[in-house]
Amino acid sequence: MRGKVAPGPSPYDFRRSRTKHRPPHPNPLPPLTRWERGFDPDPRFPLRRSGLETPQCQNRRVTTVDEALAIVAGACSPGSGEFVPLADAQGRVLARPISSDVDWPPFDTSAMDGYALRFADLGAAGGSFAERASTAAAGDSPGLPLAAGEAVRVMTGAPLPDGADTVVPVEESLSAPGRVSFRIVPKSGDHVRRRGESIVAGTALLPSGRRLDPAGIALAALAGAEPVFVHRRPRVVVAVTGNELVAAEKLPAAGQLRDSNGPMLLALCRARGVAASARLPVSDQEEAVRALFAKAGEQEDVLVTSGGVSAGDFDLLPEAAQRAGFEMLFHGVAMRPGKPVAFGRRGTTLWFGLPGNPVSSAVCFRLFVRRALDALEGDAAPGPTLLPARLARSLPVRGRRETYRDAVLDRSGPETRILPVDGRGSHDLAAHSRADALLRIPADTERLEEGDVVSYVPLEG
Ligand code: AMP
Ligand code: MG
Repeated sequence: MRGKVAPGPSPYDFRRSRTKHRPPHPNPLPPLTRWERGFDPDPRFPLRRSGLETPQCQNRRVTTVDEALAIVAGACSPGSGEFVPLADAQGRVLARPISSDVDWPPFDTSAMDGYALRFADLGAAGGSFAERASTAAAGDSPGLPLAAGEAVRVMTGAPLPDGADTVVPVEESLSAPGRVSFRIVPKSGDHVRRRGESIVAGTALLPSGRRLDPAGIALAALAGAEPVFVHRRPRVVVAVTGNELVAAEKLPAAGQLRDSNGPMLLALCRARGVAASARLPVSDQEEAVRALFAKAGEQEDVLVTSGGVSAGDFDLLPEAAQRAGFEMLFHGVAMRPGKPVAFGRRGTTLWFGLPGNPVSSAVCFRLFVRRALDALEGDAAPGPTLLPARLARSLPVRGRRETYRDAVLDRSGPETRILPVDGRGSHDLAAHSRADALLRIPADTERLEEGDVVSYVPLEG
């Protein structure tokens, strides 16, 4: 039973909690906080760091997804900082914390259109007040302190005069010339926003490493952080490889196919707000591949290639990268799809060699390139995001490798449910385009039952 699961590294290890008939799950899913390990590191086979050990070396332990993500994070140092106007800061990562130089609200103010009064006067004045001749509106200065038994007409956002501690909405007022009384007896402090009740000047509002969203930008504006100091964004160059590729506007001849990875990888970068440009397609020839790596780093922090990294005769990239001086940090990750993925570094230039199969390319981008882009931006919570969901149907699973499957989410109920998409493999872009999540299946999973808690990587953004 799920409830009897022994305490372990994660409460979501469904391999230990397989039952056919489950009680309903009344509680919402708690968030997953970390990547579960695919399998424990085996000390006999130290972490692979040399691309000379190619993935086609059978019986050799390859890097796990967790290890690969850690290697990527370790290879990325955040870019320097720059000032940008708040109008351009959406999605940028703070390179300095922001604290407020003002209280918020900055003065005692009214939350309603109404009358400001001194609560203690209500009894004494018998509910009838002398109405001040002038009205206070937003932007006015506070005006004279309230006299005993006096009420002043205030608009939302108007500063309250000294002494006023309660506001009665205008709908509840009865006005007579020079006087005002009220249909209700308010509570002390009603509809008053006190200076500093939300933020006291000097409070730390946003830490360094926070990615700004619209609410964060509002907070930065409130705190006077204009322009805002953020990390520089990495520049990416995308290069596709393969003799078989033709541009999307061409009709492929026999044996050819349209390049879909190039446009997809550019779009994936741009969806994260990262500037990316495309290099001309690279043929499967040594000279072309050599030139690709010779130029790497001229315009980019990250070179993302597709194709040419697996075990075929024309998969020339890993060797060429090393000849060009790239240190191979991994080549081959225990995952499906995406096993041939390669990652290298020369100076500050990073290279991701994504497999050519379109879904493999997409999955590897979502995991590893995403991690790198976030880390290069100094994001304190670098992706990929991993979220929990309930599996909507049982699923036979084969193989030892950690697997990522296209899936659709159902968020209509109290819990997110996830349904795998039936695809035909890592070339099946039609299936991939129906998915809004990648269902993560840990290594060595034999079967998943309907109702199991699983984790997924969302595909939005
Ligand atoms: P590779 O990783 O180069 O062995 O390529 C694996 C498969 O992905 C082959 O069927 C290629 O034709 C296909 N492929 C490679 N590059 C692309 C691309 N840019 N767009 C679409 N399919 C590709
Ligand atoms: Mg190829």
